[in-house]
Amino acid sequence: MNPDGLLSNLNSSQHAAVSSFADTLAILAGPGSGKTHTLTSRTAWLLAQGLQPWNIIVATFTVKAAREMKERIGKLLGNGLESKLILGTFHSISRRYLARYGHLIGIKKDFGIADSADSLAIIKRIVKRKKFQIDPKVARSRISGRKARGGQNAEKETNKSGAKSFEMQEFEICYTEYEDALKLSNLLDYDDLLLRCVDLLRDHPSCVSNVEAVLIDEFQDTNLVQFDLMRLFAAEKKRITIVGDPDQSIYGFRAAEIKNYKRMLHQYPDTVTIALEENYRSSGAILLAALNVIEQDSSRVAKSLLPTHTVGTRPVLRKLAGAYKEAEWIVTEIQRCVGMSGDLLDLNDFAILLRSAALSRLIETALGKAGIAYRMVGGLRFYDRVEVKTLLDYLRVINQPDNNDALARIINVPSRRLGETTIRALLEEADVRKVTLWSLILGTVQGNKGTTAKLQKSAEQALGKFVNMILTARKKLAAPVKERSSTVDIMNFVLEKTNYERWLEEHQGDAHKARWDNVQELITQATDFEDLVSCGYEDETLPEIGGLKQEEDDNHLSRFLANVALASEVKSDNDEGAPKAQITISTIHAAKGLEWPVVFIPAVYQGSIPHSRAEDTNEERRLLYVAMTRAKALLYMSYPLKNSQSEQTALCPFLSPTTLDKHLEKRGPILNAPTVQSISEILRRAPPTAISILKSSSMLRTLEDNMFPVDGEEGDEAESKMEFPVGGIGYTMGQQAPKRRRVE
Ligand code: ATP
Ligand code: MG
Repeated sequence: MNPDGLLSNLNSSQHAAVSSFADTLAILAGPGSGKTHTLTSRTAWLLAQGLQPWNIIVATFTVKAAREMKERIGKLLGNGLESKLILGTFHSISRRYLARYGHLIGIKKDFGIADSADSLAIIKRIVKRKKFQIDPKVARSRISGRKARGGQNAEKETNKSGAKSFEMQEFEICYTEYEDALKLSNLLDYDDLLLRCVDLLRDHPSCVSNVEAVLIDEFQDTNLVQFDLMRLFAAEKKRITIVGDPDQSIYGFRAAEIKNYKRMLHQYPDTVTIALEENYRSSGAILLAALNVIEQDSSRVAKSLLPTHTVGTRPVLRKLAGAYKEAEWIVTEIQRCVGMSGDLLDLNDFAILLRSAALSRLIETALGKAGIAYRMVGGLRFYDRVEVKTLLDYLRVINQPDNNDALARIINVPSRRLGETTIRALLEEADVRKVTLWSLILGTVQGNKGTTAKLQKSAEQALGKFVNMILTARKKLAAPVKERSSTVDIMNFVLEKTNYERWLEEHQGDAHKARWDNVQELITQATDFEDLVSCGYEDETLPEIGGLKQEEDDNHLSRFLANVALASEVKSDNDEGAPKAQITISTIHAAKGLEWPVVFIPAVYQGSIPHSRAEDTNEERRLLYVAMTRAKALLYMSYPLKNSQSEQTALCPFLSPTTLDKHLEKRGPILNAPTVQSISEILRRAPPTAISILKSSSMLRTLEDNMFPVDGEEGDEAESKMEFPVGGIGYTMGQQAPKRRRVE
């Protein structure tokens, strides 16, 4: 391992940061300036200095970022040590500590994780039972907000007369009942993972006695609890490195605290702060357009960020006749760009970034029609698909039968002739008796007094079979290690016993094949995961304290389920070595820290961004800034003439035209249409051969025609006015299209 090699691809500020001996180091810099790159190199450098991987905790914001970082460190070091790092999201790191040491603070073994859908289902049930007025979604986000602040309630609880408001009373009851329901089902929600880990480390600091360095990416979006966790991980004397960018703070709604940096300086007054000022990601035109957006925020502390690439291609902003046309336009542009670029771009190089996942439907339809493969990130996720969720729910129940909601979802799938009313009655009876649904039905089929629910004979028989099946699967799981069934065995057992494929065939019509494919995909994921675990990827690096032997530790199934629950927090479907090229559709939130050569941001109109329900306009502006700065070579933004309620739209005010042309021209010529050279310069890839350019030159012509459409689309002309003033860099429709350039 040669430490010099690690430092060779860094500029001087990055170099100083990577090899700093400061105890507490903060790297604050803009997008694309190499913060994550620096953090990765610093982790590798610490290893090269002699730290062991299990001495280092690295917290990233998304599962994908964690994986990428691990790969990059692997490449830098080339000795496989990266797999032993304690590296992941705050949630996954916390889960690992709780799985290993949770018993020290009374957390039951094999706890399940309630994802946001599970949490909502629990709250809905409470609201329904209590006949409350409160909106379950509002209640959920308030509960989460309160937990993210460490359980403190910062909201005003009283009205003017000093009495608790009606809604607050309902909320308080919901909160308490929700906590009880989680406890009863042995579930922890996302917030609990962090809070309980704080409890654990506060009471048992020896759990992290091996940790010597803590590194945190995307620090600007950490919340108070995560800040506490960082302090506890680091204890007294350890090294801390944080990287972040206040301009990219976009999780305020999740109680992320932009103030954490101030807290950091207060807590660790010797913190050394380093700035990085060069952007290595985007073309000059894209960067300056994005800066033009963020600089409108007068409350922001200005910092310098200079492009390292030439100006490149002017970002495009286009208004289309409707959302449907907009989706079609995006698809056509993708096809044209791929064709134009020869071998330079494939579908993996494109991303469509959305303000809200709900916008994806039309785009998905248009992509589907054109036969373009795509992966979804942070929106409707693979794990939410009904057939996948059903199989996962079976696994959850087998792992932890007290999970009321999972059990209620599968108890009649495939049909066991239990009607909706029977299931609701069972749930209510369980609630009244303060037992879990599982104990109630177990008691019923085993005829135990006091736990027996009244059921019809046929339903009781069907339930008996179901209970037996779950018990058998649990036995397979609890067997001594050598005979223990794997997760995949258990999945196959469930599919066979429920005759699931047949059931899909009979009930899902034409969709059954696609649904069965998804089931198979889940099995493949479980197989991959088992391979990963058996290679020592997980958990092995935590020290053995508290007398737990590895064998008694959580089983493969519960690890797999935890992995799924945490992955579906913010993760793509199947980005696990996806076989074919696919474009990415993501929410802007889930695209943080990532980059693509070509980025589309549709629906840039007022009401969508800034979102009509958003409270903080500056956060919406930062969101657009994050989206724009994901693009390396080409950036396309668009909006429809009318929104989904057929109301006239207005362009997002952050994008209002001003002229940056002069500013840009100082740095070199601005291109009005993409060229192979300008793309390859930014991607640092060799341009394609002359032959492939020739083959695609007709595509280039159509692309240019489209970008300067003197005759808009048929019938659209009056409505669909063209604009190209992104961040003000711009042309409007009346302007003459420049002469077509030849591609050399
Ligand atoms: P964000 O704020 O969006 O998370 P970031 O500051 O973390 O951005 P990185 O993702 O680390 O930025 O880097 C952006 C791109 O610049 C990456 O492709 C990275 O490989 C490249 N890069 C970083 N530093 C250098 C460098 N010194 N020389 C060349 N390329 C670099
Ligand atoms: Mg980053």
